[in-house]
Amino acid sequence: MRKNRRAVGLLLLVPLIAAGICLSVKPMKTAAVSAAPVKIENRTGVLLVNTANPLPEDAEPEELVNLYEQKRHFLLARSDIFLTRETFEAANRMFKQAEDEDMNGFILTSGYRTREKQAELYAGQQDGTAQPPGCSEHETGLAFDVTARSDGDFESTPQFRWLYQHCWEYGFILRYPRGGERITGIAYEPWHYRYVGEEAAKIIRDHGWTLEEYCMEMSE
Ligand SMILES: [Zn+2]
Repeated sequence: MRKNRRAVGLLLLVPLIAAGICLSVKPMKTAAVSAAPVKIENRTGVLLVNTANPLPEDAEPEELVNLYEQKRHFLLARSDIFLTRETFEAANRMFKQAEDEDMNGFILTSGYRTREKQAELYAGQQDGTAQPPGCSEHETGLAFDVTARSDGDFESTPQFRWLYQHCWEYGFILRYPRGGERITGIAYEPWHYRYVGEEAAKIIRDHGWTLEEYCMEMSE
């Protein structure tokens, strides 16, 4: 009898110890982050990727296109930037509209990354801003980083203001807005845009939500 009780006691201890180990090896938060995102039962059909909601191991983006090979209304920092076809086409329509309004000089600096590439970046990072493999939007092919020809920060350019104002019309959101750090877990990134489709982008803009808030609110 006593033996049994001890066995039960041990059994209860095991999960506690395991939980302790898990807590102690949790990835470090990035430098400017004040809270980690939470697991969300996302039923919106809009893909959510962050450290609490990682991509499945075998996730593959649909039909990636090399932007260098496309007729484009924007510039490229490199010849090996890929996005999904739908994301590229929406971005191209957006930058065509910018061009028509004499708002030129957008330069895409980054798009799709493989999980292996993300793991490499994460392992080699100095500043704590890279996400762990499986947790970066760049692994979806739905996100790009952008800048513009200018002497200062992208944020201080007219191109930034134009993009921030019009992106939702083409299905894009500024994914990591200022003030959203406590929900997204990521510091303000004026350069990172995410394709979510026009309907979701409009709702997100109208409510001033982050993508996390959209997925939480719209899944209820
Ligand atoms: Zn980015």
